[in-house]
Amino acid sequence: MRLVLLGPPGAGKGTQAQILVKAYDIPQLSTGDMLRAAIAAKTPLGLEAKAIVDRGDLVSDDIVSGIISERMDQPDCAKGFILDGFPRTIAQAEALTHMLDRKGLHLDAVIEIKADPDVLVERIINRAKESGGARADDNEDVLRKRLDVYTQQTAPLVNFYAERGLLKSVDGMAAIEEVTAAIKAAIDKS
Ligand code: AMP
Repeated sequence: MRLVLLGPPGAGKGTQAQILVKAYDIPQLSTGDMLRAAIAAKTPLGLEAKAIVDRGDLVSDDIVSGIISERMDQPDCAKGFILDGFPRTIAQAEALTHMLDRKGLHLDAVIEIKADPDVLVERIINRAKESGGARADDNEDVLRKRLDVYTQQTAPLVNFYAERGLLKSVDGMAAIEEVTAAIKAAIDKS
């Protein structure tokens, strides 16, 4: 099964992805995690991406599309995967369609986790406190920037996938288990 989790920063994509990994036994492919790993390891990609990620902007479409395409070719993705944080632009969504076509694959569903921006600011501020600043991009100014970037560049994907009959929306403001149940119900219907 091949899924995309779509939703603003702090909506719970990462949390839900980790639950779905166990439920469906398929890996979570998070471009944010991959970029943070590259930044920590100071690879050429990490050095290039660091300033962009730290200020809450998007890394180039070609870079993230390339790393996702390579990752999908790993053996653990044979049964499927959960895309978390990719695609984030229409160009990335088109690149995803083409890379899946080339690999002879298709998406089963795109799950939109809907969330209220004001609540998200609260959540991220709390996450930053709990993690003791582990993520340089978890602070209020950068979060507001990331929410703007989401609204402008990523929210259009909702229509993009609705038009293709793939979109399922769930209420991300419900309790974690309820969100999971809604996602599973949406997947079962897809
Ligand atoms: P995330 O962990 O998904 O919130 O991503 C953290 C940061 O990594 C984002 O704010 C971007 O700077 C960068 N990033 C992650 N995924 C993408 C993507 N698909 N396209 C561009 N930049 C990305």
